[in-house]
Amino acid sequence: MNDRALDLLRSTFGHPGFRGEQAEIVDCLLRGDDALVLMPTGGGKSLCYQLPALLREGCGIVVSPLIALMQDQVDALLQLGVRAACLNSTLDAATAADVERRLLAGDLDLLYVAPERLLTGRCLDLLDRAPIALFAIDEAHCVSQWGHDFRPEYRQLTVLHERWPEVPRIALTATADAPTRREIAERLALEEARTFVSSFDRPNIRYRVVQKDGSGARALLNFLGDRRGESGIVYALSRKRVDTLADQLATAGIKALPYHAGLPGETRAANQRRFLQEDGVVMVATIAFGMGIDKPDVRFVTHVDLPKSIEGYYQETGRAGRDGAPAEAWMSYGLGDVVNLRQMIGQGDAPEERKQLELRKLDALLGYCESTRCRRQALLDWFGESHAGACGNCDNCLEPPQTWDATDAARKALSCVYRTGQRFGAGHVIDVLRGVSTEKTQRFGHESLSTWAIGADLDARQWSGVFRQLVAFGLLEADVERHNALRLTTQAGPVLRGEQRLAMRRELPRSGRKDRRGAA
Ligand code: ADP
Ligand code: ZN
Repeated sequence: MNDRALDLLRSTFGHPGFRGEQAEIVDCLLRGDDALVLMPTGGGKSLCYQLPALLREGCGIVVSPLIALMQDQVDALLQLGVRAACLNSTLDAATAADVERRLLAGDLDLLYVAPERLLTGRCLDLLDRAPIALFAIDEAHCVSQWGHDFRPEYRQLTVLHERWPEVPRIALTATADAPTRREIAERLALEEARTFVSSFDRPNIRYRVVQKDGSGARALLNFLGDRRGESGIVYALSRKRVDTLADQLATAGIKALPYHAGLPGETRAANQRRFLQEDGVVMVATIAFGMGIDKPDVRFVTHVDLPKSIEGYYQETGRAGRDGAPAEAWMSYGLGDVVNLRQMIGQGDAPEERKQLELRKLDALLGYCESTRCRRQALLDWFGESHAGACGNCDNCLEPPQTWDATDAARKALSCVYRTGQRFGAGHVIDVLRGVSTEKTQRFGHESLSTWAIGADLDARQWSGVFRQLVAFGLLEADVERHNALRLTTQAGPVLRGEQRLAMRRELPRSGRKDRRGAA
């Protein structure tokens, strides 16, 4: 290993040694080669380009989509004595001119630039006249059209390679699934680059998935109740949900703040600052929050609504426990989430091909949620990495879920959906199965159906678990145009005909609250 690099790591950054593959990555750039780095959040990506930028002649140009965080990154570097600056739309003309002057004078070690700024003719000309040590493309997955962080400007970054073929490039991301990886290499012309894939395992994070009743606020409050004074993030699907939940948590005496793209810029900045600086702040946020946030002691990340994909989920949960101390990734999900997300995907205006891909991603996530195997093994599998043995630090390892043969129950549920005309949501079908007389069961004459009361052996909660899993497994689908009416899919056939058996996860008894309709 290069001694100068190690000296600098110690003297400037104050770290005793390299972590993981940092040393090899630094070496690669010092030799002038390109690198593609896949490392989980908190893994230490920044050093991989900061050190070589300091050691090579000229200034390291860092392309980052996160204007809001650039200044923080620059401030942190300035504190270490590194000559860093940024160029983005928030700077006034005089400041920008000064940064440009320093770059040309060779007075900068690192320059952070927003992609849209970098791609301007003016900026490219500026770089032509400056000594450049390397190009670092941070959050490189933004080049992927299929990811939720897609930035069209990232596609044009191949100009770096074309214009400065001799300057080494390093692309970094914490999103590591194989398709995204391939897309990054291809779109950024990094096919020849050395690829560094770190282990994505985050052994200190405990994964947990619970079933939710209603909005999930109650379960969340229980979870947070045991964690007073700890910092954490609560992810919710929509801005409205964020506002409502933040209010609910604040009313319950939790130091909760909202964050989403619909809030004024000052509010967002102020809330982010409090989250970073104060102890025990719970940020209730959409996924607009978190990319690039470096807060080591986030003790938990919760999803009260189903995230959109396993990659998104893993990246978001990766913000917990960067300091290596125990942290939790907690998610609650229910039938409503599946229906909502399918609806959002179905009604979006993305091209058909993309919708299909998103639905497959959602299915993979549902498979993860309903899985009875070790969560860590399931997650790492997804990223093409294997984990020897069960982890002992996830809900499925700690409290092994019971499964039951749900073939009969599934057949009853499916035929009841069919008999009631595939026009009703799960609530009503469950009433019919359990023989709970309501205005609706009477009005539609459902009390005389052959499936009336054939499911009195299970309570409403157990049935709702059956329906959730039937939707998750793709045997039933909900029609959002018609109040989430359930209908059978072709996959329901074999189960209905008794040709296929079905095992399901047993629902855990709800703690401390009686079922809405009482026991059967
Ligand atoms: P990433 O960008 O991959 O999410 P960062 O570069 O922000 O990660 O690093 C995460 C944390 O790990 C930071 O607090 C950083 O100071 C620390 N870190 C990085 N490399 C090392 C190292 N070699 N030794 C100790 N701490 C490190
Ligand atoms: Zn496990």
